[in-house]
Amino acid sequence: MEIRLVRHATLLLTIHGRRILVDPMLADPGTAPPVANSPNQRPNPLVPLPLPAHEAVAGVEAVLVTHTHRDHWDDAAAAALPKELPILGQPEDEAKFRTAGFHDVRPVRDAVRWSEITIHRTGGRHGTGEVGRRLAPVSGFVLGAPGEPVVYIAGDTIWCPEVDEALREYAPAIAVVNAGAAQFLEGGPITMTADDVIAVAGAVPAARVVAVHMEAINHCVLRRADLAAAVGRAGLTSRVVIPADGERVSV
Ligand SMILES: [Zn+2]
Repeated sequence: MEIRLVRHATLLLTIHGRRILVDPMLADPGTAPPVANSPNQRPNPLVPLPLPAHEAVAGVEAVLVTHTHRDHWDDAAAAALPKELPILGQPEDEAKFRTAGFHDVRPVRDAVRWSEITIHRTGGRHGTGEVGRRLAPVSGFVLGAPGEPVVYIAGDTIWCPEVDEALREYAPAIAVVNAGAAQFLEGGPITMTADDVIAVAGAVPAARVVAVHMEAINHCVLRRADLAAAVGRAGLTSRVVIPADGERVSV
């Protein structure tokens, strides 16, 4: 199994010989406005893709979208992806994929099977209070296949009971978490802080945690170096992987 971070939350996941593209945001840098009412007002994405978009989608056999906020599913991805590809996502986003011209849309209510891969949907909280309610719903997904380690893709969520529950229920070998401590001018973080990432690692002592969703969108204020320092202070450097854009994590 291999996970390659493309950029932000966009991953190329190779599992059981199949290639799945996760949360594709394929826009060129600076082509989208900053997130409204957020710090560090600069146009998004902040950085280029580490490979051309057509290479990112080459050989992809299915697409998994945790939710359709612009930094997880954008017009460039919808344009680059062949319309016959299966699109797996939360039921609330089905209409959006169909409107974009995709006809093999597979909403995941609880679980689906695709190829020999079983995909369970998990919950999450995209922030607390009113902000969290406004940004809902979001999902995570757990993928398992014969002979493969279980991988949990948490999606855009803070550390919360739903994440804790998913970790207990599925005991993943790899947990991909969206860090960045994204935030608006008001309200708390809407994605994981360094403490949240450390909490995930603490909840699954045998797992590797892969932290992504940093340095690509303006409202993500937690940088990789800051997270690495916090992880080091917590003694977790050997278990928490912070890949660069384009970097591969093999399991
Ligand atoms: Zn996000």
